[in-house]
Amino acid sequence: MELPKYDLHCHTTASDGALEPLVLLERAKQKQIQILAITDHDTLAGIRQFTDQDLEGIQLIPGVELTCAWNQRVLHIVGLGLNVDSEELQGYLSNLAELRLARARKVADQLISMGLPDLYQAAKEKGGDGVIGRPHFAQVMFEQGLVSSEQQAFKKYLGVGKKGDVKMEWPSLTEALAVIKNAGGVSILAHPTKYKMTFTKLRGAINDFTDAGGDGIEVSYPGMTPDHHFQLLRIAKEKNMMISAGSDFHSPNHTWTDLGKYPPLKSDENHVLNYLLN
Ligand code: AMP
Ligand code: MN
Ligand code: MN
Ligand code: MN
Repeated sequence: MELPKYDLHCHTTASDGALEPLVLLERAKQKQIQILAITDHDTLAGIRQFTDQDLEGIQLIPGVELTCAWNQRVLHIVGLGLNVDSEELQGYLSNLAELRLARARKVADQLISMGLPDLYQAAKEKGGDGVIGRPHFAQVMFEQGLVSSEQQAFKKYLGVGKKGDVKMEWPSLTEALAVIKNAGGVSILAHPTKYKMTFTKLRGAINDFTDAGGDGIEVSYPGMTPDHHFQLLRIAKEKNMMISAGSDFHSPNHTWTDLGKYPPLKSDENHVLNYLLN
């Protein structure tokens, strides 16, 4: 079966995306996307803004990208096909919103210790009604001329191992997988090659992920090498995992990607859409 045009990973202003949910939806229509999963970091607020009328034939898959902890590292788990009315999921997400706010204060303090001004309030305003994250700090730092680009802000201050990458007590991988399952969703390990892990370490993460009930893995997303793509396909096959793909779209300013843009998949075998559409 040929799959319709789809994107199963993207962000709105409800988290660190640049486009309001309705604007993102318009863009998806322009790009002829037929199936769209909105997967904001730790919130469902974007999805909640749509009515059936807005969708105009686009099939919306309620999703989320959960931040969780595994072996002192942070993993991102995409949940797809969620019941957005799940009280357990809602409680889980409001806890995460509080954690993120507490983290923002700590990030600001770390940046102060590196000689920057207190950016807490400005970053919070950037986040607007959405959940706050490091990209909001990066945007403020760029706007205030403290760094030459948002990427530079991550490189110097906010990225893995930098002072602004504040350690938090995120929920565990097991907890993240359980809340997705209990809300009727499937869990997908997001962008596996973007955690700066060796493949040996990554295999360990994937083993723990499937042991804890994880369902699938992203095998296609922007910025991956063909070699990574084939290694991930092989792992998915070996471990009988579902496969998923998405652009991880955040902003039209990110010229290297767009909605629906990621390396094409040759086969739809075990594709998560086969499961979600049935
Ligand atoms: P947070 O959710 O606050 O932990 O921030 C993670 C988000 O920051 C990711 O989803 C990306 O959107 C963004 N991000 C992470 N690393 C980088 C980087 N090196 N350069 C630009 N953006 C990044
Ligand atoms: Mn993001
Ligand atoms: Mn992610
Ligand atoms: Mn993402």
